[in-house]
Amino acid sequence: MITINEHYLKLQASYLFSDIAKKVNAYQEAHPEQEIIRLGIGDVTHGLPPACVEAFHKAVDEMGIDASFRGYGPEQGYAFLREAIAENDFQARGADISADEIFVSDGAKCDTSNIQELFAREIQVAIPDPVYPVYLDTNVMAGRTGTFADGRYQGLIYLDATRENNFVPDLPTEKVDLIYLCFPNNPTGSTITREGLKRWVDYARENQALILFDAAYEAFIRDESLPKSIYEIEGAREVAIEFRSLSKNAGFTGTRCAYTVVPKECRAFDSNGNAHMIHPLWNRRHCTKFNGVSYPVQRAAEAVYSAAGKAQITELVSAYMENADIIRESMIELGYDCVGGDNAPYIWIDAKGGSWDFFDMLLNKTGVVCTPGAGFGRCGEGYIRLSAFNSRENVEKAMQRIKEALV
Ligand SMILES: *Cc1c(COP(=O)(O)O)cnc(C)c1O
Repeated sequence: MITINEHYLKLQASYLFSDIAKKVNAYQEAHPEQEIIRLGIGDVTHGLPPACVEAFHKAVDEMGIDASFRGYGPEQGYAFLREAIAENDFQARGADISADEIFVSDGAKCDTSNIQELFAREIQVAIPDPVYPVYLDTNVMAGRTGTFADGRYQGLIYLDATRENNFVPDLPTEKVDLIYLCFPNNPTGSTITREGLKRWVDYARENQALILFDAAYEAFIRDESLPKSIYEIEGAREVAIEFRSLSKNAGFTGTRCAYTVVPKECRAFDSNGNAHMIHPLWNRRHCTKFNGVSYPVQRAAEAVYSAAGKAQITELVSAYMENADIIRESMIELGYDCVGGDNAPYIWIDAKGGSWDFFDMLLNKTGVVCTPGAGFGRCGEGYIRLSAFNSRENVEKAMQRIKEALV
């Protein structure tokens, strides 16, 4: 008899985006003349930087000629890209990371999902609330949780991000083994200071724990005092794995390229308490289960680090961040408490009531779509997320409508 992995049956169906779509469709049918503006999306809207497109085209042409054709490449990524990443994203900021510690992949979603299979089922996992749901669901699938009750899976430690801690979770009071952190944060847009991050690194060192640091939004950091990488913090090389993506900074959501950093000293322990390096384990997993990102995509990614690419990405990120400024300032002017939007493309807004009530009110009064915070976890109830991923025109139009409707 073929039996299933019953842990899958514990998964809560995520109705968030389908419920949003249903409500938006119903509203559109009732108001066919109203143009809907979507400020709920977690996807970029502008085209790829021209430097990337040019490199992409050139690499596709190379693939059509025997002399320059490339078949299977190195599973970890081509040296040209790994070296560009190590130099530009780490060494240039004083973080000691070398090219052979970079594993190129087709997405930070896959990497943050897959990494947990290196660790024992019995470990104690700590996950923020509200959260990017991938960290949660992949641990449920792996059998690290009990059933779902009162909005939470049993067996996990939830790290509450609330107004009281300025949406940066406090250290756990109990001992945990695996810690997920994401800064700048999706969905709250909150950031962590060097001192704050140092406390987590110190906790991990003292407790033989490991931090999984999702830095998918580092490009949106404007405050120079904030860390972009966890490896800017002393002692992090032994206790942290970092995830990066070209999705949000360079618009690769549909093109697919990301990478994971596993420093050579980064360790985990066997049941006898002996340390093992994670680098060879992740290398083994990557080589066994993955055959590399396509050559043209890696060339397009390399162009992100060219002089032209860097200038174009700065412009792209600035355009989104100016949208974020407009959204945040408008909401503050209307008397709403907000975080995020200063070093992140998301603005997390206190809805002064239920998340879904605010969603319905906003849609019905203005035709603007937001994301109800309750969809990201129990601590998200009472908040909504607005996204800066849109055209300037749409953002200005949306904020104008909101100002007229909510004063
Ligand atoms: C968008 C996003 C990513 C990037 O995912 P990709 O698979 O690289 O597109 C990773 N983490 C978070 C929190 C995100 O919001």
